[in-house]
Amino acid sequence: MKTRLIADQAHDAGAASQKTFVLIFNTGDHVVAGLKAFAKEQHLAASHFTAIGAFKEVSLGYFDSEKKDYLKIPVHEQVEVLSMVGDITINDGKPNIHAHVVLGKRDGSTCGGHLLEAEVRPTLEVILTESPAHLERRFDKEAGLALISLESSQTT
Ligand code: ZN
Repeated sequence: MKTRLIADQAHDAGAASQKTFVLIFNTGDHVVAGLKAFAKEQHLAASHFTAIGAFKEVSLGYFDSEKKDYLKIPVHEQVEVLSMVGDITINDGKPNIHAHVVLGKRDGSTCGGHLLEAEVRPTLEVILTESPAHLERRFDKEAGLALISLESSQTT
């Protein structure tokens, strides 16, 4: 994985730092582990990203709200990443990736879900932007998910 900082608006009007990075994953790279390592290394409190590219194989998840857990949907074929959107937050001091993907198959059909794990082939281009306000996730017992908490954020 190669990364580059392409914008840094740290000094704009006294606002909090808002860096934008490009992350290029190559064949064999694992997306979730790569994103987590990058968030740690850059001390990202919260960020969001979009990506396009392709996967050799991927594990999708469908959140079962009864079981409060992900049903795994393995996809063992080369697929195009038509759209990937997600955020990285810090949950109990560790980076937490929450990403949704729509994948395109050879016959033009699509499938999608939460991104649980994916192996890239040949590339995945990620544009990642640091969030100006720290997005904090708190575990919501009702939902069974770590959800964005606005309680500690300022509202206008
Ligand atoms: Zn989700």
